[in-house]
Amino acid sequence: MAVMTFGFEEGKDIKDNSFPKFKGETNKTYVFGYAWDVGNEIFRAATGHFAQAAKKGWQCLSDPKKGTKEICCTYDYVGNEPKTKVGCVLVMYKTDEDQKITGIGEVLSWTFSPKTFQQLRKIYLEHGLVDIVATCSDSKYQTFTFVPKKTSAWTTEEKIKQHVKSKAAKVYEQLPKMLYTKMSLSEIKEHLGIASAGDSDASTGLSLDAIANSIPE
Ligand SMILES: [Zn+2]
Repeated sequence: MAVMTFGFEEGKDIKDNSFPKFKGETNKTYVFGYAWDVGNEIFRAATGHFAQAAKKGWQCLSDPKKGTKEICCTYDYVGNEPKTKVGCVLVMYKTDEDQKITGIGEVLSWTFSPKTFQQLRKIYLEHGLVDIVATCSDSKYQTFTFVPKKTSAWTTEEKIKQHVKSKAAKVYEQLPKMLYTKMSLSEIKEHLGIASAGDSDASTGLSLDAIANSIPE
């Protein structure tokens, strides 16, 4: 966003620019469609940590392809086991009591576990990209039972399709941030409470000898 200048009066339009997330409440039923902009790349995934003590999460810095492990995985703390999160964009439908679609609701991001992804994939392989009726059985763990609808309602009318697509594109861009925050090694160390004074000394690149030699006699 570009820098703006404004007074308190105009400032009423300044809003939190975080995108709302879908979160299920226990025993509630939702009907959603996968909202995509282009192609079939509907999902994004990232691996990261959530450090219980610091109540902070971040993207894992280890590289499984190279076989390198960073301090986020090797340091001893609750949360050092990296976990994968999957994200996508949903269009929520307005429905009646029988889950019959009556209108288009919000376009939201949704992050979930690989286990949930596999549940959805099973439905996709059998039914395609249809809308989903999701009943939340546990809000804490965000567990759902999913039942496929017969169609993808939002894609059947051109005007609605364009509306959802343009909204979905913006939310999709934000998805990586919704999964895990990117942090540097020193930021992670700080959240883990690992002293990093040594690092900043080392970053000057001077040996003790060099320092000793630089002191005038
Ligand atoms: Zn890690």
